[in-house]
Amino acid sequence: MKKTTRIMPKHKHIALVAHDNYKPELLRWVNEYKEKLKRHALYATGTTGAMLSKATGLTIKSMISGPMGGDQQLGALISEGKIDLLIFFWDPLNSVPHDPDVKALLRIASVWNIPVAANRATANFLIASDLIESEVCIEIPDYQAYLSERT
Ligand code: PGA
Repeated sequence: MKKTTRIMPKHKHIALVAHDNYKPELLRWVNEYKEKLKRHALYATGTTGAMLSKATGLTIKSMISGPMGGDQQLGALISEGKIDLLIFFWDPLNSVPHDPDVKALLRIASVWNIPVAANRATANFLIASDLIESEVCIEIPDYQAYLSERT
């Protein structure tokens, strides 16, 4: 597929999601990096967002709850180039009823080439990167070329 580029701004749009067993882990991580995260726009699925904003006081734009469609809402934002980073502590040891939505979210994040952290170690690497505070040029699919090849 032909590629084009997108500039991620300094002020990133970061999506935060955790499955129930990993919500405490995500809260611990967010508390640890609260000062850095404050400088960016935060998004989350419904329950994750409500829990995080209540516990930390951070402003978070919450979708509806993941199993009710929130993962798909985040996926739509990613397709529109409106999310720059996905921190998704999904549960590798238990199944969830909305597994197709989880797969779809991870898939669309790959399609649009955004950094994804599925665990604490990767999230630490991402947040420690200088790129989090700078403009970053990423390659993305050239949708206009994709369309004109098919029409
Ligand atoms: P939740 O959704 O934040 O509403 O729990 C997360 C998920 O996708 O499971």
